[in-house]
Amino acid sequence: MLTDAPSRTPPLALGTGDFFQLLRDGKPRTRADLIAITGQSRSTIATRIDALMSTGLIAPAGTAGSTGGRRPATFAFRPGARVVLAVDLGANHARLAVTDLASTVLAAHDEPLSIAAGPDVVLPWVARAGRDLLAAAGRDVGDLAGIGLGLPGPVEHSTGRPINPPIMPGWDDVDVPGILGAELGVAVLVDNDVNIMALGEYRAAWSQVSDLLLVKVSTGIGAGIIADGAIRRGAQGAAGDVGHMAVPGADHVPCRCGNTGCLEAVASGQAVAAALSAQGLDAVDSAGVVALVRSRGVTASQAVRQAGRDIGGVLASCVSMLNPSVIVIGGVVADAGEHLIAGIREAVYRRSLPLATQHLRIVASRARAGAGVLGASAMAIDHVLSPAAIDALAA
Ligand SMILES: [Zn+2]
Repeated sequence: MLTDAPSRTPPLALGTGDFFQLLRDGKPRTRADLIAITGQSRSTIATRIDALMSTGLIAPAGTAGSTGGRRPATFAFRPGARVVLAVDLGANHARLAVTDLASTVLAAHDEPLSIAAGPDVVLPWVARAGRDLLAAAGRDVGDLAGIGLGLPGPVEHSTGRPINPPIMPGWDDVDVPGILGAELGVAVLVDNDVNIMALGEYRAAWSQVSDLLLVKVSTGIGAGIIADGAIRRGAQGAAGDVGHMAVPGADHVPCRCGNTGCLEAVASGQAVAAALSAQGLDAVDSAGVVALVRSRGVTASQAVRQAGRDIGGVLASCVSMLNPSVIVIGGVVADAGEHLIAGIREAVYRRSLPLATQHLRIVASRARAGAGVLGASAMAIDHVLSPAAIDALAA
C-alpha cells in the first residue's frame, strides 16, 4: 500500500496502474508531490500523468498554493470519467444504481422482481433497466466501465456462476457474467447478496476499521466477512454461510438443506414467522414478524430476542475465529428494532473471551437497504480501477 510518506530507498519503477492508485483518494497533487511520494524521476511522472490524462481518469485540478513564483498545476482523479452499474437482486426485489467511480449514486431504481422467474427473464430485464437508468443519469452505454451484481444464493466467485442456489430455480451454473457482458459490452462481477452488503456497509460506514462481520437476518441467514480490509470469500466463495451452522439442542428441527438443527431453521425470519403462526399469530414472513414486534406484540418480541440469542451463540464461534471489531446486523428482521441485537449481544458477550469482546461493537446496519448496491458498485470499481485494468486501458 502506497502512502504519502517519502520513500527512503530507491523505489522500483511504478507502472501506470500502481501510480494511479495513489490518486484514487481524489486529493489534488502537484508533480512535485508525486515525485516526493513515489521517488520517481520527473520524466517518469510526466509520462504516467500523460498516460492517465489520455484515459480521462485524471484531469488538471487547478493550482496549488505556492510560496512565490508561478503556482504549480495539480492533478486529481475524476470519478465522473466513467460509471458503473450496480445491481442487487433479492428473492422478490431488484435494486439498481448507476454510480460514478467513487460510488456516488447518480440514478437509482427499485422494482419488484422474482428471481425464480429464471435467468432468461431476469438478465434481459437487468440489461434493459440498466440502459434506461444510464439514460436517466444522462450517460450512455459507452460511459459504462463495468457491472457489479449480487445474487441471493451461493456464487462461485472465480466464474461468477451461481452454484445450486436453493431459491433460484433455473440459475444453477448459468454464465451470468457472459450473458450480461454480451448485452452491455463490459466486465461483470458477480457475488452473493450478503458479500456485497458487507462490502457496501464497510465502505460506506466502517472504513476506519479493518475487520467486520455483516450478518443478514431475513428469510435466510448469512454472513459476509471483511478481514484486513478485504472481503474474504474462501476457496469457492462459500465463506460466511453461517445459516447452516448447528444450534446446540435443535437436532429435532429439519432444515431445507437436508440437515437438522441449522441456525437458519431455528432463527431466520421465516422460522420465527412459522413458530408464531403455529401459536395462532398472523405472521407469514419476516415482514410479518417485524410488524408484530412493532405493534408491541410481547410473544413476537420474545421470539425475536430468542432468535437473536441463537444467532449470537453461532456468532460467538465466528468471533473466536475472526476477532472482528464490528458485527453489523442487517436484513429485514433487523428492522424489528433492539430485540434482535439485544439477544445477539447477550449470547456473544457471554460465550466469547474478554480479549475478543473488549472493543467489539454489535450494531444495526447504517447503509441499510442501500448496502447491496453500494457494495456491488465498489466491487465493480475495484475491478475496473485495479492496477492491471488501468495498465491495459492506458497501454
Ligand atoms: Zn441447513
